[in-house]
Amino acid sequence: EVIRLEPGEATIQVYEETAGLRVGDPVAASGSPPHAWLGPGLLGATFDGLQRPLDRLAAGGTWLLLPGRAAAAFEPEGAGMAGPRLALGPDRRWSFEPERSAGDEVGPGDRLGTVAEGPIRHGILVPPDLARGRLLELPPGDHGIAEPIGHLETAAGIVPLHLAQRWPVRVPRPVLRRLPVERPLLTGQRVIDMLFPVAKGGATVIPGGFGTGKTVLEQALARWSDADIVVYVGCGERGNEMAELLASFPDLVDPRTGGPLLARTVLIANTSNMPVAAREASVLFGATIAEYFRDQGYQVALLADSTSRWAEALREISGRLEELPGEEGFPAYLGSRLAGFYERAGRAVVLGAPERIGSITTVGAVSPPGGDFSEPVTQASLRLAGAFWALDAELAHARHFPAISWTQSYSLYVDQLAPWYEETLDPGWRERRAEAIDLLVRERQLLDVVALVGADALPDEDRVVLEVARLLREAFLQQHAFDPVDAARPPEVQIALLRAVLAVRTGLSAALGRGATLGQAMEAPVLDELRRARS
Ligand code: ADP
Repeated sequence: EVIRLEPGEATIQVYEETAGLRVGDPVAASGSPPHAWLGPGLLGATFDGLQRPLDRLAAGGTWLLLPGRAAAAFEPEGAGMAGPRLALGPDRRWSFEPERSAGDEVGPGDRLGTVAEGPIRHGILVPPDLARGRLLELPPGDHGIAEPIGHLETAAGIVPLHLAQRWPVRVPRPVLRRLPVERPLLTGQRVIDMLFPVAKGGATVIPGGFGTGKTVLEQALARWSDADIVVYVGCGERGNEMAELLASFPDLVDPRTGGPLLARTVLIANTSNMPVAAREASVLFGATIAEYFRDQGYQVALLADSTSRWAEALREISGRLEELPGEEGFPAYLGSRLAGFYERAGRAVVLGAPERIGSITTVGAVSPPGGDFSEPVTQASLRLAGAFWALDAELAHARHFPAISWTQSYSLYVDQLAPWYEETLDPGWRERRAEAIDLLVRERQLLDVVALVGADALPDEDRVVLEVARLLREAFLQQHAFDPVDAARPPEVQIALLRAVLAVRTGLSAALGRGATLGQAMEAPVLDELRRARS
């Protein structure tokens, strides 16, 4: 990709291994910027950062094995940018069911028809950059990805229509009109859905040091969130972690359909040993694919793990370009690059008929070195996202998972989402949420006091707060990702559990008022049941 042009000199970032390239070798321009191929065949696929299908290449391809890295599967030599047949599958045929017919006038974004792709109706849209025109023909039938499915007569001439379209990955796909967010992306995770929700069409950042549970959380989101389509970008991660993910994903069962989760997932696997330039590409391809499904009217979750690896790649490339470095050596445009990524999230009326509303919810993991959230990537990201789920190393060490800190995390979507929660779940959601957070904050303050003077010195009321806060942490906030029941809970169950835990406060106070000691009151069998309720 050409990234700088000066008189007589082009600077090109190379997405592939450059071993064997020599001074004097010819370079030819492809005539187009990096672009994604969008069409049936995306779902269930595993791509590298340039949309080359790792799964299919591994099954039938020749692999370039680099010395010293035996047994690892790498890019096939010189596969280059993928064409539609490589990206989306050379032999698959799709049964196209048209919704429009010859003589209809169609324009950008209009849905021409659909094909069935696993559990998903894959909409075939007029590309956003095509002129309006009149359909000459659009018969039903089986088509390969590169064959024309019909023809359109435009002012500029007759153009063929295809199942697949291409789009330059650096350019956000246009929408008709952006909309405010109004519904949560339900994740099944209590601490998220009840305390720090993210909106469908919103963006959230998960910063966390090594081992704090970023990957487990991102995978829980991929599996349990109520998005229609999941695009998971593994960006610059270690190869063995990515391999683990790729190995485990095909076994995951989609809780919505009972079929494989992969059938509504697109995986992009970019590992740390691929050339650094491809890290940015992997994120951009992911965003473009997410937009394509949004344009069909789907609710898409775009999960990127980890944006820090991308930022580090930007730093390295910026250094080679001898640009003036900004904070901690990151380029001065780090913030605007990240903004460009997070701004592709959103909820919108998309182009074309019939009217459709789609959304992209972006979740970016950040791995701050040493878990220090004041570093530039975390800081730049949290300015862009509406929710912040801070993973706390202390909680992770104490095996409190998900290790989402209730003191550092926040969600700016609470006001926008409150009407939904109050109508669908509980008219008092906002107060209960505030009460829960307040309890946890009180607990922290009281624990400082206890450390100085001991628990016995506290008045009963404060000791009740400590007991209820502990119950809240253990029975409500903690959630075991590997427990078949506890892994994800529907919102009705979450709110019931929250209400039950909060009610304990009144119950304990009443018992003390009747003359019971706190110790006696805490032995009530119902509390034991509550502690076990989550699993
Ligand atoms: P990171 O990606 O931040 O380095 P991981 O996501 O790999 O961290 O998590 C590290 C370990 O923490 C996991 O292997 C798992 O044992 C534990 N863990 C994280 N989240 C949970 C959870 N929700 N439930 C149970 N265990 C968890």
